[in-house]
Amino acid sequence: MAIRSVRPNFLRKLRRLNSTAPTTIPPSIFAGEPATAALTPPTTTSTDPIINLTDPKKLFSSVSTTKLIKSSITLYMASMEPMVDFGTWVMNSGLMSNPISNQIISKAIEHSFYDHFCAGKDLDGAGRTVGKLWGGGLRTMLDYGLEHANDNESCDRNLEEFIKTIGSTKSLPTSPVSFVVVKITALCPTSLLRRVSDLLRWEYKDSSLHLPWKLKTLPIFSASSPLYHTPEKPDPLTREEEHDLNLAYQRLIKICQSSLEASVPLLIDAEETDIQPAIDYFTYSAAIEYNRDDNPLIFNTIQAYLKDAKERMVAAKRAADEMGVPVGFKLVRGAYMSKENRLAYSLQVKSPIHDSIQDTHACYNECAAFMLEQIARGSGSVVLATHNLESGKLAATKAVDLGIEKDSRNLQFAQLYGMAEALSFGLRNAGFRVSKYLPFGPVDQIMPYLLRRAEENRGLLNTSALDRELMRKELLRRLTSPPGS
Ligand SMILES: Cc1cc2nc3c(=O)[nH]c(=O)nc-3n(C[C@H](O)[C@H](O)[C@H](O)COP(=O)(O)OP(=O)(O)OC[C@H]3O[C@@H](n4cnc5c(N)ncnc54)[C@H](O)[C@@H]3O)c2cc1C
Repeated sequence: MAIRSVRPNFLRKLRRLNSTAPTTIPPSIFAGEPATAALTPPTTTSTDPIINLTDPKKLFSSVSTTKLIKSSITLYMASMEPMVDFGTWVMNSGLMSNPISNQIISKAIEHSFYDHFCAGKDLDGAGRTVGKLWGGGLRTMLDYGLEHANDNESCDRNLEEFIKTIGSTKSLPTSPVSFVVVKITALCPTSLLRRVSDLLRWEYKDSSLHLPWKLKTLPIFSASSPLYHTPEKPDPLTREEEHDLNLAYQRLIKICQSSLEASVPLLIDAEETDIQPAIDYFTYSAAIEYNRDDNPLIFNTIQAYLKDAKERMVAAKRAADEMGVPVGFKLVRGAYMSKENRLAYSLQVKSPIHDSIQDTHACYNECAAFMLEQIARGSGSVVLATHNLESGKLAATKAVDLGIEKDSRNLQFAQLYGMAEALSFGLRNAGFRVSKYLPFGPVDQIMPYLLRRAEENRGLLNTSALDRELMRKELLRRLTSPPGS
């Protein structure tokens, strides 16, 4: 589908939905402001907490009762361990390769987990969800659900999808889309990312190694970075590999160019440590070319569960400052903990992941504090992508203490669509910029993402416990109060 055919349709639906959204949406939405009812910070006194998560009525003011009921049921099902185990078994089983059972299972998933965690099968569906969230004062990070690519043909197809996604945001005056998400693993074959990571690691160990293809970049490793993935000196890239590397970089450049034209920044996802050095390399090289003035166009992701996270982030920030390049980071804890631990265990080396969850929390909060201090001094941008209440509250308090404008474009919070709704709405009510990370695409394509969400939501005490409790209270209040109250 060409960009031209997507855009007007997407925009038309967005406008129609905005006009029927549950909250009153002022005309200023088309002048670039989200619903003021939702974003106006409540007046606080110095003893008030910055984020108020105690009033379900205020938190869920923009959510319809039907949506609240559906969300409560899905989150409750996702918290039941046997249910998740069964669902995961079914999704990984041979039943998915039988066309009839595949169709039945896909439909069941579509109307439950997929509906809750994903925005729609295509850009039109995603546009409807973008409109609803914007009506409730939340921005969105559009993520076309693409996983790893293994050859140039699929990378080229993925490039088209990224360009279409970026194009769909172009005609909005100030976009409700805060970022378009890009996965380098969808633009460069994984085997090549692994080869490039090996060579970069070896060059870090032995600076005499010459990499003729290497572009200007920022520091990728620190003294505590794991180097065990590359036990021997790797062969240089073949001519064909160098050619493919250049093709992959040109794909990223095309995406940067198109996001520059659409004025929508890019958020690069982080993956496992065996291929992350190549992802950092691509991202920082493009950032040096495209990040200008105070507005980084391309943001890299730092995973705070890694022991070297803070050192690497600080080194990249300092080097960028010396080069006069503005940098932006998305800060996450990290999604591949068991894979990383398994690999380290199989190689009989220490895991790159912090030894305890407390260390991960401390690292996340220290990285966030570092970036907030940089922003307060006028340099850098950060997206604090977390469902952790404590991290959200700490960062919000620190930002206010440092005098950072709550609506500053350099500080944004983000949660996955369908997760940590109370935190998103609490931060929004306090006046901060909040985005939901919004995956969209065909059900079977999104399956690996759904499996990760199922894993993250299992157990009664998971991060959705607060959401379930507050949703239950709000539903009870709506069902027992007189209409309109
Ligand atoms: C907008 C957004 C974008 C994201 N993008 C990415 C991405 O690009 N790459 C990526 O990898 N992840 C990404 N994530 C996923 C994110 O990493 C997970 O949601 C995260 O693991 C959950 O952490 P949390 O901050 O929400 O806090 P919590 O739920 O409080 O933290 C739990 C996390 O702590 C870590 N942890 C748990 N136990 C231990 C232990 N014993 N030792 C050390 N650490 C432990 C794990 O990472 C676990 O997931 C993204 C999340 C969001 C919200």
